[in-house]
Amino acid sequence: MIDVDGVTRRFGDFTAVDGVSLHIPRGEIVGLLGHNGAGKTTLMKMITGFLEPTAGSIRVDGHEVTAEPRAVQALIGYLPENCPLYPDMTVMEYLEFQAGLHGLAGAERDAALARAVRLTELAPKALQPIQTLSRGYRQRVGVAQAILHRPRILILDEPTNGLDPTQILHMRGLIRDLAEESTVIVSTHILQEVQAVCERVVILRAGRKVVDARLDELQRDGRLRVTLDRAEAEARPVLEALAPVRRVEAAERRFIYVLDADPGQAPEVGRAVQGAGFALYGLCPEQRSLEAVFAEAETAGEVRDVA
Ligand code: ATP
Repeated sequence: MIDVDGVTRRFGDFTAVDGVSLHIPRGEIVGLLGHNGAGKTTLMKMITGFLEPTAGSIRVDGHEVTAEPRAVQALIGYLPENCPLYPDMTVMEYLEFQAGLHGLAGAERDAALARAVRLTELAPKALQPIQTLSRGYRQRVGVAQAILHRPRILILDEPTNGLDPTQILHMRGLIRDLAEESTVIVSTHILQEVQAVCERVVILRAGRKVVDARLDELQRDGRLRVTLDRAEAEARPVLEALAPVRRVEAAERRFIYVLDADPGQAPEVGRAVQGAGFALYGLCPEQRSLEAVFAEAETAGEVRDVA
């Protein structure tokens, strides 16, 4: 659906996006993560055709973005960071105006407006001028304009920025609903956001892609947590015979050993510790937090790639 190949974008001498390749199939929800200035917005602007790459190519549903920006923009709904809205217009006037820009008219336009207002739960504010809306409602108006034409690709830049906890939950639900018929890219530096809605994580650092992996695989990451009744002096030699012990945590008469072992080795580990006469209280893959993944990506040099 989206094929980014070796894309670089320079501003003068400064390289904001540096040789990024990214392949996103239909229907996936991808979280684009990175610190301020990592290049997320620049990459999204290139995918949406608002900015041309200095090098490399981007194809969306088979269309080359620089050659056919209109065709690509018809497929994409875009919520920019700080979505520009016309404050004097009411919500409906603004959405009608946007529907016109998408070439929607007549019954088709009315159906599109009704759907967008329903999905974003904007009906109670529909006749209110935009300047009188709270930040959360303005954000919903931004989403409503992005989904009016039922885009096959939805690109949301910081969709929950400035929202209160209730609005954040609503926005997450909305993103999941929209993903049923669209491919979604969510750019954010809020890790919980990615954890809550995304299947895949791409992390940019200083314009380069440093992580590209499924969230569940990234968090599993080849470690086993074994909870035993034995302290390190006794347990370590038995465990080390199977796999390196990365970490030991003591927990009220129990000891947790984190092994550098594939989850497939779990039965072997179970047999070995029981064979040694230890009580086995737990044996499961370790879940790494996204915070840990992100922190490692900020220091590690290599690219982890799903491809
Ligand atoms: P944030 O999370 O703060 O929105 P980001 O990851 O979206 O950051 P970008 O907005 O893509 O980052 O910016 C990447 C880098 O490129 C930044 O250092 C920024 O200052 C620079 N940059 C972006 N647009 C321009 C421009 N038009 N001219 C010069 N430099 C730019």
